[in-house]
Amino acid sequence: MILTDSVESLKGIGPKTAEVLKKAGIKTVRDFFYNLPRDYENFAAPTSIDKMRPGKVVIRGKIDSLSNRPSRRRHLSITEGVVRDASGSVRVVWFNQSYRMRQFDPEKEYYFSGVFELKNNRYQITSPSAVLVSDVDVGSGLAPIYVAHGAVKSNDFKRLMNNSRERFSEIPDLLPTVAPGTRKEALFKVHFPETVAEATSGREYLAYEELFELILAARLNREENGKLRAAPVPFEVDKIRDFVSKLPFKLTNAQRKAAWEIFQDMEKDTPMNRLLQGDVGSGKTMVAAMAAYEAVNAGHQVALLAPTAILATQHYEGLKDLLGKFGVKTTLLTGAIKEKDALKTKILGGEIDFIIGTHAILTDDTEFKDLGLVIIDEQHRFGVEQRQKLMLKSPDGLAPHLLSMTATPIPRSLQLTVFGDLDVSVLNELPKGRQPIETKILSELEMRDKLYPHMSQIVKTGQQIYWICKAIEDNPKTETTSVKSRQAKLLKLFPNFRIEFLHGRMKPAEKDEVMERFASGKIDILVSTTVVEVGVNVPNATLMVIEDAENYGLAQLHQLRGRVGRGSEKSYCYLLTGEDKSPSRRLMELEKSTDGFYLAEVDLKLRGPGEIYGSLQHGALDLRIATLTDTKLIHKAQTDVMDFLKSGENMLKYEELRAGISKYQQLTTLN
Ligand code: ADP
Ligand code: MG
Repeated sequence: MILTDSVESLKGIGPKTAEVLKKAGIKTVRDFFYNLPRDYENFAAPTSIDKMRPGKVVIRGKIDSLSNRPSRRRHLSITEGVVRDASGSVRVVWFNQSYRMRQFDPEKEYYFSGVFELKNNRYQITSPSAVLVSDVDVGSGLAPIYVAHGAVKSNDFKRLMNNSRERFSEIPDLLPTVAPGTRKEALFKVHFPETVAEATSGREYLAYEELFELILAARLNREENGKLRAAPVPFEVDKIRDFVSKLPFKLTNAQRKAAWEIFQDMEKDTPMNRLLQGDVGSGKTMVAAMAAYEAVNAGHQVALLAPTAILATQHYEGLKDLLGKFGVKTTLLTGAIKEKDALKTKILGGEIDFIIGTHAILTDDTEFKDLGLVIIDEQHRFGVEQRQKLMLKSPDGLAPHLLSMTATPIPRSLQLTVFGDLDVSVLNELPKGRQPIETKILSELEMRDKLYPHMSQIVKTGQQIYWICKAIEDNPKTETTSVKSRQAKLLKLFPNFRIEFLHGRMKPAEKDEVMERFASGKIDILVSTTVVEVGVNVPNATLMVIEDAENYGLAQLHQLRGRVGRGSEKSYCYLLTGEDKSPSRRLMELEKSTDGFYLAEVDLKLRGPGEIYGSLQHGALDLRIATLTDTKLIHKAQTDVMDFLKSGENMLKYEELRAGISKYQQLTTLN
């Protein structure tokens, strides 16, 4: 079968190009054919320059007056040129694409496709794509646009794909013939569509394939996991009642229900595989603590894995005293902990019940006496191998129960497919007394009048501020303000405030120290990268500024915002945007709503599940085609998978399918 051959077996792809493609993950012929166009341009009817209206345009003309210069305000290079047709001329502008200087032959005609807009009082087409007229398939006028990978640009993909036109006929089907059409037709239509409808139908076939694989993997996982054995943990109602009655607050109903579901799972002799989903601040940690208490009661050890030392420490500080009252011996195990060997001896000896820590727990020499429950906080931060390592630390022949937690709400449609083999508990309720966070989009120009006075007022009342920046250092290539320069600027503005920074390249001990001081109120404004993103809990922080907010995804913005609004005081979030753009739909939705599940649905519609799931799983899963908002397609795939599984031979017959689902299977499997 040709699909597994190296890309180099395709016409026109030599070792050099193959090397670049490999870096982008395109190694085989299959990878190459599945590198689908990001979009299409319709060159069939270009607009004449004098008839252009603001918005997306396609024009056809020659380009001259090309120049390249550094920008004054930020560290950018700007390439400009003038495109002319018979009716007139228009300025075109690119940022950080100096290769455009060498791209054009002034004698030849090109199509330019981009957004025609008024910027800094001049009309221009910003960052248009450009294609030689003679390269466009005259038949349809539809030209695919591919994502550039290093030196291999969209046009190169187009050329290479064209070279392999004949090879499409060799592509075998992946699935039994349950979908109308064949894979070779579908892929061909996507790369060489005659009409937009054709491209869409090709994509739909591929989306169906993808859903089929995903659902099949989830089904098989559920079967496999059902064969594993775990030590049952008896549900001791009285002890739990007593525990709950001694908490400093009343559990929310959602917390009660989730805990109850977990207790039911742990009573079984098959391992629990449950995902606890809850918006930031919904109180997942307390549910985890109850599960841990129950497992320790039954004589087992419990490990709680957190993605950062800051978080692990916070969980430890928050739980050790509470659990200590009930005789649970808790310890912290992070990279920075001293005398690890002595600690590990105690863990192996069973002298410690509850081990809270980071990756340090995963090292081979951390052995348990009887690991009965594994809790993974912010599970999407961990790779498959890391999770599996922990699962293997249980006693011979038994798998520990697994509770994963995430603050990234997963839309229902994704739950059914991607997480079809997980049981899910949802904390859809915040503890009482929380006020919704007020969110405002602010342009940089409004900072002086609206933001700074509010910041001063917050600090004067003894509350604290997070200021989130994208970068650690100023970088000549990006347009973002760094943590360090922002801290310096704020210190000039507010010389009397205690302003410090935090970022991921600081030593773990330094980070912990800064976070510790912020948590104890010794820092007024913490300028930080997204290292504060997950789970950090400082209820006295009531204002958050997210600089260059357009650079983040909706889910991440929502999570970041969740660092405030954790106490009883009203909290605020400002989303800063550049000066000359209207805010994206993402930001406007965030301004409107604080409901994580609603925002997740919006995100799904705006971005598609590939990106959402990609960010959930370290990109381990690459759902590129399917739009899981298409419930009809999901439903069909579900039914077809059930039929497929009825014949035991099918799994053996479809070799490529088997290989394909193994990548999905690893995501949620227990062993
Ligand atoms: P998350 O779900 O984001 O992990 P946490 O578990 O960190 O949320 O809880 C956020 C804060 O809410 C913590 O300070 C915790 O002690 C508190 N909390 C948890 N449950 C309740 C409750 N039922 N009532 C009041 N406060 C609660
Ligand atoms: Mg948390």
